[in-house]
Amino acid sequence: MKYDYLIVGAGLFGSVCAHELTRAGKRVLVVDKRSHIGGNVYTEDHQGIPVHKYGAHIFHTNNKEVWDYVNQFVSFNRFTNSPLANYKGKLYNLPFNMNTFYQLWGTVTPAEAAKKLAEQTAEMQGKEAENLAEQAIKLVGRDIYEKLIKGYTEKQWGRDATELPAFIIKRLPLRMTYDNNYFSDRYQGIAENGYTELFDKLLDGIEVRLECDFFTDKKSLQALANHTIYTGPIDEYFAFSEGVLEYRTLKFEHQTLADCENYQGNAVVNYTEREIPFTRIIEHKHFSGSVTKHTVITKEYPAEWKLGDEPYYPINNEKNMALYKRYRQKAKELTQVTFGGRLAEYKYYDMHQVIASALKTSKGLLDE
Ligand code: FAD
Ligand code: UDP
Repeated sequence: MKYDYLIVGAGLFGSVCAHELTRAGKRVLVVDKRSHIGGNVYTEDHQGIPVHKYGAHIFHTNNKEVWDYVNQFVSFNRFTNSPLANYKGKLYNLPFNMNTFYQLWGTVTPAEAAKKLAEQTAEMQGKEAENLAEQAIKLVGRDIYEKLIKGYTEKQWGRDATELPAFIIKRLPLRMTYDNNYFSDRYQGIAENGYTELFDKLLDGIEVRLECDFFTDKKSLQALANHTIYTGPIDEYFAFSEGVLEYRTLKFEHQTLADCENYQGNAVVNYTEREIPFTRIIEHKHFSGSVTKHTVITKEYPAEWKLGDEPYYPINNEKNMALYKRYRQKAKELTQVTFGGRLAEYKYYDMHQVIASALKTSKGLLDE
């Protein structure tokens, strides 16, 4: 055997495992079907602006070990995510906080806002929320639901808000302070020179084969190593034998505006009405603070996923979770293969969670 480990996927899970195993003296080969490393976290330089090719990636965590881990490779800036919502040309602050309440209702003090929220949520009080629409009304009331949630959510998921599970919306914080910080985590930022540098450092000195699809050469690739770490879609590993897991996909429309220094004055603006087909516009230079004469923006269009499209958001409904459980069982039976990361675990993981999971997995493998 030429290698101890074959790692399928040069995304965050694969790259952290590759780094840790190599550091422990193991021989590692990484393959990825894309033409670059970094998976969905990949950024590409556009004349001084790091462009997030697969959607905005903001690092946020309460886990000091994970924060220290990434900071040993690259520096992070102090970017704080404060997205704006544009509904029919009017702007509102996110997450829902005293600024949003002032913009919607003119309330100034927390007591005034609390009174208004109580009126707005009255129709759901004492009732169990059975879907996302009801959960949203219960949490933030009808006005916010109609203006800032309903349209965005229905575009994002391609389904009526009354047909979506309530848990999706539990992620949105509600604040009785004038605080526009989207995340409540202690550590937050963006890799100063873009994220690709992080992957260059993680994979430094490790053999990586790009544009190498595991499935076109599965047998001979696996024959090169004692153990495989697989970070692609779990159903694909088993040739979809139990059925196909569903996702939402996104189309990213990147635009360079040569003569525009500042397009929207903020990194993220959500478009919350249903009639506008994209969910948000990202202006990349505001993530990095790049000083340039031009700017790069990206519009994000959610779309129904079919086999062959990029799988971005797992649809964790009952049907898919039951299917995933069957694949999970099959995966457990394979002692020479480890499944990890967003696609292999069919889980909407944030970056810090993927790193924590990869560190645990590689430690577990080394302790075996
Ligand atoms: P991936 O990044 O998907 O890596 C898997 C790799 O495996 C890919 O490079 C793929 O090409 C490769 N692969 C798959 N199949 C094969 C095959 N057959 N052969 C070879 N290679 C293969 N997280 C945050 O913390 N903050 C954010 O702001 C944030 N924003 C996000 C926005 C969007 C639009 C999306 C989609 C995700 C966001 N995330 C964010 C989540 C973040 O992208 C993930 O946590 C992270 O990318 C997961 O890493 P991974 O290695 O599990 O998967
Ligand atoms: N959401 C919304 N309006 C917004 C932003 C988010 O209704 O302006 C809802 C939507 O249902 C979305 C969920 O909140 O799917 C989670 O949003 P988040 O921004 O955390 O999602 P992500 O960045 O992961 O797409």
